[in-house]
Amino acid sequence: MTSGANDKRRLTILGSTGSIGTNTLDVVRQLGGRDRFEIAALTGNGNIDLLAEQAKSFGAELAVTADEGQYEILKAALAGTGIEIAAGRNGLIEAAERNAGWVMAAIVGTAGLAPTLAAARRGADIALANKECLVSAGDLFISAVAEGGGKLLPVDSEHNAIYQVLEEHQRHAVERIILTASGGPFRTSTLAEMRDVTAATARAHPNWSMGLKISIDSASMFNKALEMIEAKHLFRMRPDQIEVIVHPQSIIHSMVGYSDGSVLAQLGCPDMRTAIGYALSHPARPQLDVQRLDFAKLSRLDFEAPDEERFPALRLARLAMERGGAQGAILNGAKEVALEAFIGGHVGFLQMAEITEAVMDALSHMPAATTMDDVFLADEEARRIARQRVEQTAAAA
Ligand code: NDP
Repeated sequence: MTSGANDKRRLTILGSTGSIGTNTLDVVRQLGGRDRFEIAALTGNGNIDLLAEQAKSFGAELAVTADEGQYEILKAALAGTGIEIAAGRNGLIEAAERNAGWVMAAIVGTAGLAPTLAAARRGADIALANKECLVSAGDLFISAVAEGGGKLLPVDSEHNAIYQVLEEHQRHAVERIILTASGGPFRTSTLAEMRDVTAATARAHPNWSMGLKISIDSASMFNKALEMIEAKHLFRMRPDQIEVIVHPQSIIHSMVGYSDGSVLAQLGCPDMRTAIGYALSHPARPQLDVQRLDFAKLSRLDFEAPDEERFPALRLARLAMERGGAQGAILNGAKEVALEAFIGGHVGFLQMAEITEAVMDALSHMPAATTMDDVFLADEEARRIARQRVEQTAAAA
């Protein structure tokens, strides 16, 4: 969708102030900035200074903070610019529904679900970074995109890699997809060492620069667990077709295995701008100023099987996929509560998986969601029980 009069592409970025959001604006800048793109809306939450600066420098029509308490501050920061302002959940929906052909979905967590869905329903092409849309709402989200008529372009580097090498006309010959995982900062740590780690050490990812929550999810491999479920819905795979291999260098971003024994991989330096640029320019490839791989300097590529005893999140993802029902939403909701509790210092690193599994077991009877209300209900129920578990765990410590 373009503005017609000047043929510029219209974009909206949900979560523009985050790691993916700022990288997206950098790609927009590299590809011509305001000469080639019109920014319909930008959204953030607490980082009002950055949101206001982005809105001004990219000439956004609308700037939204999800935090209603920040409305007046945003209004003051954008006074006299002519940029419209909104706040709260309704503001996010207004941003998502604004006429823009391409929407980057980069709000972190379940908060991203409703606005991304609104953009999908009106037929925008969705560049999907927010994996929770697929983990929690799965087939419902895929159906919403199909009914809206837009494209779904994965931004997660693993899924973007698979999207690049999964040949649609050869789909019948796809045997498996292989998600690579760096192994995170505790790849070689013992269980005893992992018991006492803090959020400050867990957030230090060896290869990728990302937001706080996804960095800690990478350390616990919950991020990979979410990605397994995301891949199931995105590429219509059976759980047994989804493999994970630890690849500490993060050079191979993921692979597709075919029936003739061939394995196709996508490689690159760990830089999200490649995946974002691909999603923004698809089906063309953009000219991007990112570091090139120098094979002569790559001394080796290592691989090892993941250890599900130290990283039980992977087993939980398989359990959720096998059980079906509302288990994806439950896993995600419980994990988000446990993650907040870990960041707040109330539960230990390994207890995040224990709490999540207990909630999944407690709610294993919940049927598959048939409406978005069902998804939100499963998410709420998972959070309620997870909060109880957090209190019990903290009290017992
Ligand atoms: P960040 O934490 O860096 O950014 C999150 C964005 O969401 C910010 O704009 C933040 O606003 C906004 N936000 C936070 N809370 C809320 C809320 N309650 N309601 C509305 N907006 C909110 O996250 P990332 O950019 O790292 O990740 C974004 C999404 O992309 C996640 O789902 C993540 O899993 C996924 N992803 C990220 C990758 C990465 O490399 N970073 C790779 C692949 C996927 P503010 O900053 O103003 O508070």
